[in-house]
Amino acid sequence: MILNSKLPKVGTNIFTIMSGLATHHQAINLSQGFPDYPMDEALHRLVAEAMQKGFNQYAPMPGWMPLRESIAEKISFLYDAAVDPDKDITITPGGTYAIYSALTAILNPGDEVIVMEPGYDSYIPNIEINLATAIRVPLRPSDFRINWPLVAQAITPKTKAIVLNSPHNPTGTVMDENDIAELRKVVAGTNIFIVSDEVYEHLIFDGIAHQSMLRYPDLRERSFVCFSFGKTYNCTGWKLGYCVAPSEMTVEFRKVHQFNAFACFTPSQVALAAYLKNKEAYLSLPAIMQDRRDQFIRLMASSRFSLKHSSGSYFICGTYERISDEPDRELAIRLTKEAGVATIPVSAFYADGTDNKVLRFCFCKKDQTLEKAAERLCKL
Ligand code: PMP
Ligand code: GLN
Repeated sequence: MILNSKLPKVGTNIFTIMSGLATHHQAINLSQGFPDYPMDEALHRLVAEAMQKGFNQYAPMPGWMPLRESIAEKISFLYDAAVDPDKDITITPGGTYAIYSALTAILNPGDEVIVMEPGYDSYIPNIEINLATAIRVPLRPSDFRINWPLVAQAITPKTKAIVLNSPHNPTGTVMDENDIAELRKVVAGTNIFIVSDEVYEHLIFDGIAHQSMLRYPDLRERSFVCFSFGKTYNCTGWKLGYCVAPSEMTVEFRKVHQFNAFACFTPSQVALAAYLKNKEAYLSLPAIMQDRRDQFIRLMASSRFSLKHSSGSYFICGTYERISDEPDRELAIRLTKEAGVATIPVSAFYADGTDNKVLRFCFCKKDQTLEKAAERLCKL
């Protein structure tokens, strides 16, 4: 059969490769971002109860209404924004799907979309599958913050959207009020949409406040804001998230969603509707994850990696010039096999594979896992 690939440049993604290698070589997996400690049992019980009570048929296409109501309450509490649960929120099978659906809803062939690099690996294929062009803008090499003058230069009459991600995967940088001011300047008076990937909204450290697009009415009116329950509640395998967007934009988003997943797993939506009322479960997260970060940094103090700063997400990056001059991908694969620790080569977050010789470590792991991994990494 002749198949004209829609994504000719795309291979198997790095998370699949590194987690597969980690399993194969029984290495400690600091590659793909997921916790190795259990999720809250109370949430397990709520899902089991939902199944026992018979919530096992299709949920409504936009999502279980009580869950959307709980999300709206949470957004009002956290970001002081009034969101209509009926018209502005759609429950999706994960954050990645929400981002894909948002881009698919707005893109036409020939459109341009601004993405930062390094950046999460799904954005560019999501743009290209819609026959649009990704305009890659490098983050500032010194601190991985957004280079606003370069963003402004990248805007053309074809610019349809800008993809933002804060806290940022893989660098752990976080947008601040100055970034918001710069963003406002760049989009003011344009028809540019914002796709804001905020899956790490609660994984943010050192007392920094998350700058959600939902806080700012002028930015919110042009934004699809994408979230993931997997990241917040230690259940990445549930693949459940949501998109918040103004109602006219949500209408188009749902046109894509209704002919793709249509609806999401009902029992976990019923469970989360109740669980979300427990503010402590998400308000406690920044401190818990900051402690993981600090623990990893302490354990790695005697290693020959140079760790960069991480203000958010599950991740911290490190350079390795005192260990090797191998390309990052080769080193990540070799360390998985020989040292028994899997990481992610940051070149995977560049469309052209730019290799600045950086590895990404995932630190949302038990003490014991971090201790063992660091012991091995410190021997290098
Ligand atoms: N965006 C970023 C930056 C991520 O790291 C992830 C993690 N997988 C996601 C989106 C999506 O999360 P999920 O689809 O698993 O909900
Ligand atoms: N977001 C996670 C990471 O960056 C996992 C992504 C995935 O498995 N697709 O590691």
